[in-house]
Amino acid sequence: MSTPGDSASRTIGVWGYLAEYERDRDEILAAVDRVFSSGRLVLGDAVRGFEEEFAAYHGVGHCVGVDNGTNAIKLALQAVGVRPGDEVITVSNTAAPTAVAIDEIGAVPVFADVREDTYLMDVDTVEDLITPRTRCVLPVHLYGQCVDVSRLRQVTGTLPVVEDCAQAHGATGPAGRAGATGEAAAFSFYPTKVLGAYGDGGAVTTQDVGTERTLRRLRYYGMEERYYVEKTPGHNARLDEVQAEILRVKLRRLDEDIAARRRIAQRYHEGLGDTGLTLPAVGPGNEHVYYLFVARHPRRDHLLKLLADQGIRLNVSYPWPIHTMRGFGKLGYRAGDLPVTERLADEVFSLPMYATLTRDDQDRTIAAVRDALAVIA
Ligand SMILES: *Cc1c(COP(=O)(O)O)cnc(C)c1O
Repeated sequence: MSTPGDSASRTIGVWGYLAEYERDRDEILAAVDRVFSSGRLVLGDAVRGFEEEFAAYHGVGHCVGVDNGTNAIKLALQAVGVRPGDEVITVSNTAAPTAVAIDEIGAVPVFADVREDTYLMDVDTVEDLITPRTRCVLPVHLYGQCVDVSRLRQVTGTLPVVEDCAQAHGATGPAGRAGATGEAAAFSFYPTKVLGAYGDGGAVTTQDVGTERTLRRLRYYGMEERYYVEKTPGHNARLDEVQAEILRVKLRRLDEDIAARRRIAQRYHEGLGDTGLTLPAVGPGNEHVYYLFVARHPRRDHLLKLLADQGIRLNVSYPWPIHTMRGFGKLGYRAGDLPVTERLADEVFSLPMYATLTRDDQDRTIAAVRDALAVIA
């Protein structure tokens, strides 16, 4: 990530927002001014408007804006009935917050291994993980493509599905639009995401009006009416009005941004398809949105070092599987328990990917990767 002063013109990172801000500055600042001038700074027209527009975009009945993606997962799990001590089946090959959210509400993450081709939850292994304490399944639509939720349900039956859509805004899988195939779905608008705010934000979508009502209560201390906590105490997890108004602006360009990401992916495939790199495979029935463009090489660390020497700073998502982290030692997993997940952690890395990435930077990246691979070979 380039910061002012570190010769931004020479360093290429996996993500940056300054080119976007330069392009959209007037619209963004006008959105901020609309909120500040509205006379209402918390849970006003911006959050309400964004919720309606985001629900419509996904073709779902309801959307509840929250303060970040981690809380979106927490609230979604609680809204579908997950209680302390319950087991939630997910993957270890994801951002730590997926598991942190499960842990924070007192539930227990149970990890399925992932597929060697798409890096997504291996649905075929899920059946063996179901116990009498399993209360929910949390598939992660990793890197921008979707787990086949229909096939997952063939295995999990009536267990509620909560989708982790933090990386899959606008993606479509074999079961439909990400965010429209679970009992509830959690989104993050962390700035790097496919739809990113200028700060933190999140949302939960659902088709069920009862779930929506529970979510609204949970994000607002547990209250329906002001000053009175119903049923159970909740959280303070409101989406900020300023971020909501900025997100409304950015939602209008989301399809365009996704198209730009797909063009960049296409260019990487053309420029790197004949090298020894493993490039992303799109699963059947998937329309990938390329939150990340993740490649794979057995000598990843050496490759990244050579690239860093050329001013190309790439990133690894994710270098440590969650089940091997000290902070999750209490779960009792050992290295070797999830072989595909562990192998991927040693080999994957992400190429620069964001809608305003210039052609020049794409070409420089491709050339540098080719050079580095020639050195390694
Ligand atoms: C970003 C992310 C989250 C967490 O979102 P925050 O807004 O940072 O809390 C959760 N799950 C996945 C898969 C993510 O990529």
